[in-house]
Amino acid sequence: MTRTACVFTALLAVPVLGPAQTVGPRPHVVIRGIYGGVPQEILDSGRSLQEFGVNAVWLGSGSFTAERVALLRAQQVRVFAEFNTLHVAEYLKDHPDAAPVGADGRPSPPPDGWQGVCPTHESYRRSRMAAFKDLLERFEVDGVWLDYHHGHASWEQTAPNMPDTCFCDRCLRRFQDDSGVRLPDRPTAERAALLLSTHRQHWARWRMDVLTDWVREFRMILDATRPAALLGTFHNPWSDEDFGSARQEKLAIDLRAQAAFIDVFSPMPYHARFGHAGDPQWISRQVAWLGRYLGLTGAAGEQRRIWPIVQISDWGESVPLEQVEAVLDHGSLAPATGVLVFAWGGLRTHPEKVEAIGRTFRALRGPAAPSR
Ligand SMILES: [Zn+2]
Repeated sequence: MTRTACVFTALLAVPVLGPAQTVGPRPHVVIRGIYGGVPQEILDSGRSLQEFGVNAVWLGSGSFTAERVALLRAQQVRVFAEFNTLHVAEYLKDHPDAAPVGADGRPSPPPDGWQGVCPTHESYRRSRMAAFKDLLERFEVDGVWLDYHHGHASWEQTAPNMPDTCFCDRCLRRFQDDSGVRLPDRPTAERAALLLSTHRQHWARWRMDVLTDWVREFRMILDATRPAALLGTFHNPWSDEDFGSARQEKLAIDLRAQAAFIDVFSPMPYHARFGHAGDPQWISRQVAWLGRYLGLTGAAGEQRRIWPIVQISDWGESVPLEQVEAVLDHGSLAPATGVLVFAWGGLRTHPEKVEAIGRTFRALRGPAAPSR
């Protein structure tokens, strides 16, 4: 047994009363999830995921094994995969022509190390689609969530770093073919300057459409391979006004257009990491905006759903133990119908936080028999 599992067991042996619980049963919240791996320390302690109110687990697509899926199935939880779309940096070693090109006409350095890939590189796209299909064929997943489905950027921080890309010859050719806009036969830097000024709206529209078309193809593969599975996306949580429309203009994410293909939106309002450490209400404000934007209320039977992923583990900024309930409270208000916590890797050595998550998840579930 690991040291952490011993701590979990010790907490079980001597019940510790948590702070007074203010969150009560929320029948509209059907998913109470953990993101980032099998919660092995809980299982090693002899307790079940149901005891913590957990009914769903997200694993990275690269860490799927038949054994892990079977283990989670035995725990009666739903099993979801996270799938990397435009961030397979290793691909660039053998395919340097897939590197995003900046407005100066040169490969754009990875902002803060977050390397993106050009979204019109055809063999890269084929390789991701093949990996997506392979995942769905090999494993009995309940759904696949797209991750890093956006332009070359490091936005997951208080001050985002989002260079303008991709101005490679292939993207500029595709843009002209698709939009009908003609660019002068000038060096890339001059063409990029036109795209960011005179043709800004056309350029932004086209970039979003390219990424939406990836989602369309993912949907087609999912429907043909494992139609019962859900298609979700982990996405930037900003409103249209935040950072000057950067979600659309820099990250190239058109949520309304993607809604034609996506079942579940999982915005990532990591309040502490993103400069709102003392304001967990920011989470529910962003989720409420998304609901209005997509026309979703969280009512039973809605086809599209919102399940935010909220920050409980420390990343950049810490999330204090006393804030765990408030974060899950704001992450599970309608229009959300599910909530999942980021991230097991940072929680496994903090059993007191895991206990707090368990208390709140059980309160959300209510005293009735555990629901799936
Ligand atoms: Zn490109």
